[in-house]
Amino acid sequence: MTTIETLRRQADACTACPLYRHATQTVFGEGAPRAAIVLVGEQPGDEEDRAGRPFVGPTGRLLDRALTRAGLDRSALYITNAVKHFKWTKDRAGGKRRIHERPSPDEIEACRAEAAHHHQRGPGRDAHLAGGLPDARDHPSLRHPSHLGARGP
Ligand code: SF4
Repeated sequence: MTTIETLRRQADACTACPLYRHATQTVFGEGAPRAAIVLVGEQPGDEEDRAGRPFVGPTGRLLDRALTRAGLDRSALYITNAVKHFKWTKDRAGGKRRIHERPSPDEIEACRAEAAHHHQRGPGRDAHLAGGLPDARDHPSLRHPSHLGARGP
């Protein structure tokens, strides 16, 4: 049986789509492996790429505040992204900022193994946080935390 650890090692060595080429490192999911609620963002951001952990940047801090307001303990959830490498482009103004680029449907599809693992796991609930993912429309109350009324990153 495939475990989360196996999937993590596979993601660390994955070259199934081009996103690994310009990312600092793999940003795998974290949290309770058998969590009843799995939160799925679109992709790691700049801070997540540097830290190697999901949702630790501005959006993660917004998510933490939203979870606190909802009475949810982050450590009891499983938090991940649809793709495990940061997709970005150069700042067109010539600055050093790395500008977030939305992953393509092919890149998301190439990165489905971890999500598939959770779908096999049982009757948990998945909430897609990224507004750009098709499933986000199915969860209007559980969209990206910037939709919760607070200011976005
Ligand atoms: S984003 Fe996913 S499919 Fe693409 S290289 Fe990274 S781990 Fe592999």
